Amino acid sequence: MTFRELNLKEEILSAIEELGYENPMPVQEQAIPFMLEKKADLVALAQTGTGKTAAFGLPVLNMIDTQSKKVQALVLSPTRELCIQIANDLKGYSKNMRSLKVVAVYGGEDIRVQLRQLDTPPQIIVATPGRLIDLIERGKVELGAVDFLVLDEADEMLNMGFKEDIETILERTPETRRTMLFSATMPKEIANIAKRYMKNFEEITVGTKNAGSENVEHIYYVSQAKQRYLVLKRIVDLNPDIYGIVFCRTRMETKEVADKLMHDGYNADALHGDLSQAQRDTVMQKFRNRNIQLLVATDVAARGLDVSDLTHVINYNLPDDVEIYTHRSGRTGRANKKGIAVTIIHSKERFKIKDIERMLRKTFTQEQIPNGLEVCKKQLFHLIDRMENVEVSEEQIETYMPQIMTQLEYLSKEELLKRFVSLEFNRFLSYYKNTEDLNLPERSERGERGERGERGERGERGPKQGGRVRLKMNVGEREGIDAKRLLGIINDVTNDKSINIGAIEVTNKFTFFDVFPDQLDQVMKAFADQTDVVVSEAKASKGFDDRKSDYRPRSGGSSDRRSSGGSGGGYRGGDRAASSRPAATGGEKPWRNRELSDRSSRPAGGGGSDRRRSGGSSAGGGFKKRY
Ligand code: AMP
Repeated sequence: MTFRELNLKEEILSAIEELGYENPMPVQEQAIPFMLEKKADLVALAQTGTGKTAAFGLPVLNMIDTQSKKVQALVLSPTRELCIQIANDLKGYSKNMRSLKVVAVYGGEDIRVQLRQLDTPPQIIVATPGRLIDLIERGKVELGAVDFLVLDEADEMLNMGFKEDIETILERTPETRRTMLFSATMPKEIANIAKRYMKNFEEITVGTKNAGSENVEHIYYVSQAKQRYLVLKRIVDLNPDIYGIVFCRTRMETKEVADKLMHDGYNADALHGDLSQAQRDTVMQKFRNRNIQLLVATDVAARGLDVSDLTHVINYNLPDDVEIYTHRSGRTGRANKKGIAVTIIHSKERFKIKDIERMLRKTFTQEQIPNGLEVCKKQLFHLIDRMENVEVSEEQIETYMPQIMTQLEYLSKEELLKRFVSLEFNRFLSYYKNTEDLNLPERSERGERGERGERGERGERGPKQGGRVRLKMNVGEREGIDAKRLLGIINDVTNDKSINIGAIEVTNKFTFFDVFPDQLDQVMKAFADQTDVVVSEAKASKGFDDRKSDYRPRSGGSSDRRSSGGSGGGYRGGDRAASSRPAATGGEKPWRNRELSDRSSRPAGGGGSDRRRSGGSSAGGGFKKRY
């Protein structure tokens, strides 16, 4: 398809041609004809980088009446940087349209300048919600003639607390307006806004719902938490041409990581909320100009940054929320380029990766943390490649060549190369000479599975409950726990579906369950790292009886499991894993929305037989509200 086939005005076609746009991107192919031909509203699931500015900008520009000096289109966006960018894009698309005015208004800048720009009303305003309300209240913006309202990065606007402002603005615009909502993710709150304020809207999705770009490869490295920084360095060193953002959880961590990187000679800087707007602008500008190769940032601070050719996004920690992961990883792989989203996790976080995989419907690859030798080889050949391809300016160096030739005459080609490489490379080689393997030892990687069955002598604590050990977990019915969910939590926390669980008892505040002595250590160790749930050995039996267990066979044929649990045989992992019933939970929602109450009303499906799929990932995944 060509832009010409989309029936856009000649002035617009010529402008986008000058910009070098040849064919419409998928979101444009869908949104432009829809907006031009139908009279309905539009909800588009699309991330930045998919071409969404032109997707709403071109049809809106096409329909603006340039003779009228009233605000006809309003674009709301979460950050000042995005506002500026959208306004610039719209100015570019409309540069051949006479009498068209676009003004960007946003917080964090002297309002007087913006007031002046609004002296003659523009046809299009691009605004952050708070500043727009300020200007409306000052009587400087009149929205009574708005025909088009665009909510851009709607999920980000909600994350930033603009919900009420957006609603106020929506109510100030005529009911006859057409609304276009763009969002990278579709949390419930966005669906509610669409339902409440949009008429007959159609939904289009570019790529998979909630999924990162198709061009993004997701990989992760597993290491000890305390070695995170060293792993980061190896990743960076393995990718000499990296141009990426390292996301951290807190300002403090952001500063620390950036300081360490700079201290270690990397071309890095920090972007976080403790910096003034001017400082942030400077850092972002340097990064855009590629004077900085690695930007270490918090999610909030990085929001305004829009760079379309990042090679990597690195999650120094896993974010608490799958939406944040989606946003972060969506910053790479833009404009048809390949991108890599890298995450550093520790071994107990594997289940979180599984959750994200399921929700994004993507497969993540675990890669081995490269050793010193691999990193050195990569760096060395990168240097050699650069040398091979460097542009030699004969003109500039010819003056010095005779002297150089004379001075180095006695060196063979091999000697010359050795010296040249050493000059550039010695520091690197000596740093990596004796560095340790940062991968977890195979034993702990496998959760000590290898030892199972050979640990008769390990039952020091002594079996209770007829050969089993009774454990107590500090959550119970009031947190929505039932047997199926418990099994799911155990499954995910231990990352092992073959843990045998004996009888289960769920009280209002606590959950008691039996494990077998040979797996006791494994279970205790796995839970030791958990912060939201605490598992300890239960005190002496108070006559625990399997019949009190809340585990009941449900439809789907789990009576065998009831009897195996009840008779002391335990719920065999093999049984649980054997079911191939698809996950009952679907896994569409971001995990932070998956409250326990949600799950308790889910269909039981196979009656808990498929602990791995139904109870497993979802219970473990959703248990901690966010995971
Ligand atoms: P956006 O998602 O609007 O931020 O756009 C991402 C990038 O793609 C921007 O740099 C746009 O200039 C560029 N772009 C948008 N539409 C096209 C197109 N049809 N062809 C080539 N580049 C485009």
